[in-house]
Amino acid sequence: MPIGDDRNDREHVKYVQNVIKEKESTNLCPKCGSKLVLRVVKQSVNEGNEFYGCSNYPKCRYTATVI
Ligand SMILES: [Zn+2]
Repeated sequence: MPIGDDRNDREHVKYVQNVIKEKESTNLCPKCGSKLVLRVVKQSVNEGNEFYGCSNYPKCRYTATVI
């Protein structure tokens, strides 16, 4: 049985989903170009709030609020 198009389609869907995922998570720090990671405030009055912090922390202290 030859490898059908069905399998290729599934591989393609997987690939596209990965691309979308990659796009969603690719927030780059405007200061140093590192990836931004989702963090949660653990101290202060804003405890529990989510924000993006630079993965280069503490070298880079850039943060962005989650919209
Ligand atoms: Zn940074």
